Amino acid sequence: AKERGKDTYQIFSENMNTAYSERLKMEAQLRIALEKNQFFLHYQPQIDMKTNKIIGVEALVRWNNPELGIVAPNEFIPLAEEIGLIDPIGDWVLKTACQQVKNWQNELGLYIRVGINISPKQFQRPDFVSKVERVLQETGLAPKYVDLEITENGLMQNSADCLQTLYRLKSHGVKISIDDFGTGYSSLSYLKRFPIDTLKIDQSFVRDLIEDTNDQAIVTSIISLAHNMKLNVIAEGVETVEIVNFLNRHKCDEMQGYLYSKPLNPHDFESFLKKMKQQ
Ligand code: C2E
Ligand code: CA
Ligand code: CA
Ligand code: CA
Repeated sequence: AKERGKDTYQIFSENMNTAYSERLKMEAQLRIALEKNQFFLHYQPQIDMKTNKIIGVEALVRWNNPELGIVAPNEFIPLAEEIGLIDPIGDWVLKTACQQVKNWQNELGLYIRVGINISPKQFQRPDFVSKVERVLQETGLAPKYVDLEITENGLMQNSADCLQTLYRLKSHGVKISIDDFGTGYSSLSYLKRFPIDTLKIDQSFVRDLIEDTNDQAIVTSIISLAHNMKLNVIAEGVETVEIVNFLNRHKCDEMQGYLYSKPLNPHDFESFLKKMKQQ
């Protein structure tokens, strides 16, 4: 009878109350997720379009929640940012991704870059650069293999401090990418001032590239802009051969997307590498 009562209550309160208590529950679970080792990383290959070889991977975090199963980052990263958990989670991602890529160097002789998503809050912390330095030291990974992915909005919030952080990272040899390029609210003027290596063309411009002439105009312009500024350019969300051909014709440097591979756990990534070698 007790159980029944609970069910009835849940049906009648299928409204904001439920949403709110669900959120509180998720919040409580997120607070203990790190110590319970519930986070893990998937790695998505990034392909050099000239050589057709894997030149890097992007590290993408997932949360193995005991009740909900695997939770995607879009569902918990915003919450983690709100409740002040993004720093410890971000630290874990940075450390784990660098350690993994260093292990692949040691064990497989595979020397590839790792793209690590950095939330604006993390990037703005005064101790961010020293955290990166410490991880590089602890893992022994050379800085040129680390590619920090930051959105335009993330760079705009305090631009004087931002500039200093970027220069300090650059002085170590760490790479900087602008994630979701073209979707932020900023002007282009920061491109002149900020020491950036790569523009990542957002997948919203890539998805319908073959049918949509506006997307074609945007993508070709971003590629020209990048090349004229001596920047590297990578297209995200590449799902078809037609899109690969288009990007090839327009001299895009790199690509990433489900066509080549979805994000993989380290074991599956290693199998994927072996299969590639046999071809
Ligand atoms: P993002 O940085 O733009 O990452 C690309 C997203 O697109 C990933 O989703 C990836 O799985 C997905 N994707 C890759 N190729 C394709 C494709 O061909 N088609 C489609 N439709 N999607 C593709 P995911 O892993 O769910 O990550 C979503 C977002 O969560 C990321 O967007 C990033 O903003 C954030 N995120 C992921 N990991 C981290 C992290 O460690 N730290 C922080 N701060 N944010 C993260
Ligand atoms: Ca990214
Ligand atoms: Ca992106
Ligand atoms: Ca995104």
